[in-house]
Amino acid sequence: DTPDKEDYVDVLIVGAGPAGLMLANWLSRCGVKARIVDKRGSKVFNGQADGLQCRTLEIFDSFDFAHRAWREANHMLEICLWNPDKNGRLQRSDRIPDTIPGISRFQQVVLHQGRIERFFLDSIKEHSDIRVERGVLPTSFDFDEAKAGNFEDYPICVKLRTLAEEESTPQQRQQHQKSSDGRQTVVEDGLFRSNLVADDTEDLIQATEAKETPSQVEHIKAKFLVGCDGAHSWVRRQVGFSLEGSSTDYIWGVLDIVPITDFPDIRHRCAIHSADAGSLMVIPRENKLVRLYIQLQATDCQKNGSKADRSWITPEIILRSAQRIVHPYKLDYAYCDWWTAYQIGQRVSDKFSQSDRVFLAGDAVHTHSPKAGQGMNVSMQDTYNLGWKLAHVINGLSEPSILQTYESERKQIAQELIAFDHRFSRLFSGRPAKDIMDEEGVSMEEFKRAFEKGNEFASGIAVNYAASILVAKVTGVTEQGNNAIISKPELATKIDIGKRIPSFKVLNHADARPWHLQELLKSNGRWRVIVFPGRLTESQNTERFERLGASLGRSDSFIRQFTPPDKPIDSVIEVLTVHSGSRRDIELLDLPEAFHPHHGDMGWDYWKVFVDEESYHEGHGQAYANYGIDQNRGVSVIIRPDQYVSWVGEVDDYEQMSRFFASFMKQQAAGNHAL
Ligand code: FAD
Repeated sequence: DTPDKEDYVDVLIVGAGPAGLMLANWLSRCGVKARIVDKRGSKVFNGQADGLQCRTLEIFDSFDFAHRAWREANHMLEICLWNPDKNGRLQRSDRIPDTIPGISRFQQVVLHQGRIERFFLDSIKEHSDIRVERGVLPTSFDFDEAKAGNFEDYPICVKLRTLAEEESTPQQRQQHQKSSDGRQTVVEDGLFRSNLVADDTEDLIQATEAKETPSQVEHIKAKFLVGCDGAHSWVRRQVGFSLEGSSTDYIWGVLDIVPITDFPDIRHRCAIHSADAGSLMVIPRENKLVRLYIQLQATDCQKNGSKADRSWITPEIILRSAQRIVHPYKLDYAYCDWWTAYQIGQRVSDKFSQSDRVFLAGDAVHTHSPKAGQGMNVSMQDTYNLGWKLAHVINGLSEPSILQTYESERKQIAQELIAFDHRFSRLFSGRPAKDIMDEEGVSMEEFKRAFEKGNEFASGIAVNYAASILVAKVTGVTEQGNNAIISKPELATKIDIGKRIPSFKVLNHADARPWHLQELLKSNGRWRVIVFPGRLTESQNTERFERLGASLGRSDSFIRQFTPPDKPIDSVIEVLTVHSGSRRDIELLDLPEAFHPHHGDMGWDYWKVFVDEESYHEGHGQAYANYGIDQNRGVSVIIRPDQYVSWVGEVDDYEQMSRFFASFMKQQAAGNHAL
């Protein structure tokens, strides 16, 4: 007998959907030893999620692949609302912008999940040796709580089995269709991933365990385990967390088709409420496709079988429902790319982490209806929140206490998401009110207001993390007295502590190239101190700026204390400057060296100082005005590695900055920093 293999890893990720891939992507940039396994033999190729919100695109841009999604995707600019008029005939009642103008430099786009997974896979490959191990199933879990307090230790043991090909490829119903040029194609049935279908994990585990000659077995010892294994999460069951919430009676069908129709707004996102045949949402997609979310009528179920019995759901049944809703317009198709059906429910897990060693993310901790295009976005944003924190702890830069903020920050978002989805789905699934006295029906004015409000939430930009060790929201003198880290939000009235920093164009001082500020905040694990010293031709501004420069440049500055001696001085905390005076009045090399460090053989760093000035070709970003900063006083801002604002204070308040970092960062050995 060959003994089972054994491996030690920092992080084991179970599930390679959007949440797992985002995490692997973060870890690939931060030099963490991680493995990622998925029970399925292949990635998603079509169907599933498709909406990318603007915050998600900002995040993709911080990883350098937003341009791929932006170029390939269909851009969604306008939503049309369709309702019955007083005679019950369908009419277009309103048009609203899809993304609230000015909220981000990106707007919502749609591109199917398979492409998004591809971008992640390419990015992970470019930055590391991490590869998704497919057809690999965890079959047992052991957690030694006694070892959990020592973060050098490996308290988790997971047994992995490699599945045979037929085990890792679920059965799907095959349907054939004939295209207009006479070719036969197979329609992809997405029901096997729908919540109408039972999960196969336990059956697979039993089948593989019962095998006489076991498939390959490996024992993984891990410091951290992250369950990104979807709504039926196996990891969630191992730690015994439960999803709380309920499901509704509404069943919705989804068709990805190339439509043949006379409906005039088929290339707009539309919310259509029919008088009495239910509702439909139109999502125009890439490659001439259109996704239709169609409410299936209770009568469809009664005629065709119980809800739990999914065999009655076919693309034809879903299409017939759609035809009734868009009547008198015609709707048909010759090509269907994918279809599925799901039951609306809203659930959120009671806990997101066990002893800060086992974490859950994505659909494993929150499930809801897909119509608001949230699941994939929020799932990726869960692990975007977690990834850098894990990397900092594993790399010995931060105390493990920062890991507690994962649950406190993301559970709050999941609860907000569930509440939002509950309201949105009720309004969407409800019958339109006939008149003002019709209390059971949904008022279309209310629906429009909810849609507009919902768009802000759905964009992901509204996320506002609560006060914590990483978010200094205490202002003024408080009961916490001198121990609290005090922020001064009045110095930047349009920067919200706890939210991601908005982006405006600034010019590089050294070469006049315009950059969006967010483009400077790459997701590479670095903290940033952004100094806005105001006009550097004013003496009081220059004094403050030079005072800060002198403190940051000291051999015992907090930057030096928290940066490993063998790493470049800007690798843990990077200092960026945006001044508001003219480039022409100031020489970069006259500024204190802390603001443009010298990297030995690589010379001066010309990519740290920027100016709020008019560019030659792209206008004026008006960053100071847009951030609400007084040019005569300025402000310093601390930004987390995930672009959220931690602290806002006086330009030269070195002491508060230093105390902020000291509250969770680890002192590194003294020495000369690598250049
Ligand atoms: P999943 O994508 O479910 O990935 C989980 C992964 O874990 C899978 O690859 C699975 O094979 C693997 N796995 C599961 N169990 C195990 C196990 N025991 N061992 C190993 N691996 C395992 N969201 C949006 O944001 N926008 C949309 O427009 C949108 N539209 C949608 C439309 C439809 C029809 C559906 C069904 C969903 C839609 N969603 C949308 C939701 C979105 O698909 C999910 O929220 C998102 O995929 C969740 O990502 P995840 O990584 O958490 O989980």
